[in-house]
Amino acid sequence: MIKITNISKTFSGNQVLNDISLEIEEGDVVALIGASGAGKSTFLRALNDLERPDSGQIEIDDLKIDYSTITKQEVLELRRKTGMVFQQFNLFERRTALENVMEGLIQVKKLSKAQAKEIAEAELDKVGLTDRKDYYPKFLSGGQKQRVGIARALAMQPKLLLLDEPTSALDPELVGEVQEVILNAAQNKQTMVLVSHEMDFVYNVATKVLFLEQGKIIEAGTPQEVFYSPKNPRTREFLSRHV
Ligand code: ATP
Ligand code: MG
Repeated sequence: MIKITNISKTFSGNQVLNDISLEIEEGDVVALIGASGAGKSTFLRALNDLERPDSGQIEIDDLKIDYSTITKQEVLELRRKTGMVFQQFNLFERRTALENVMEGLIQVKKLSKAQAKEIAEAELDKVGLTDRKDYYPKFLSGGQKQRVGIARALAMQPKLLLLDEPTSALDPELVGEVQEVILNAAQNKQTMVLVSHEMDFVYNVATKVLFLEQGKIIEAGTPQEVFYSPKNPRTREFLSRHV
């Protein structure tokens, strides 16, 4: 189980995350929804310390971290347990698809090149990119790039996968292939926190939906609960504009 407690973050007087707590069971897909500026990206980035929270704790298995006293060693351990998929893919442009997936396995997991290659090829195969493994990112479509991004994250076997609007930079016709890869990971019980504005997809993939407003979770429940009987009028209002 992953336990996140009392995460807060202020940017120059602007409280962007306001005491967020959350428990995530193994295999959960937690979808974070909310208006632009609600703090969704900041929350995801806070979890793996890309954005240091002012306060709060996270427990992932035996790793227990207090962000206010986090050490360099703990940052490394935290990053080893979490994977991130970015809206803009963030692939290494000078590396092929295969090399992109191998990189963390070699640098972080300290695997041999041969071991890394074997795992990377298997992960690229799972996302349907075996025939593109030797391509550089600039020769891949957005959907293919994002599938490399997901394969790269999954190759590290993260306890928690964080995805920040993974399909929002894609042409509409490429959204489906990436959603399918994420659905597949969900079916394989990959624990995830996903930010998305695509409510149909959220409804299909999530086990838990959180509605974030001004850095606070103001509604939480199953997709059925949140979409069909939201308790908070603000959630209702948001959904009426987005579904
Ligand atoms: P969107 O749906 O547009 O991606 P979001 O919910 O992801 O929005 P965040 O990017 O987390 O929102 O931003 C939340 C608030 O924090 C915004 O008001 C934003 O301007 C502010 N913010 C985010 N990052 C920084 C930063 N590095 N410095 C100052 N303010 C920031
Ligand atoms: Mg965002």
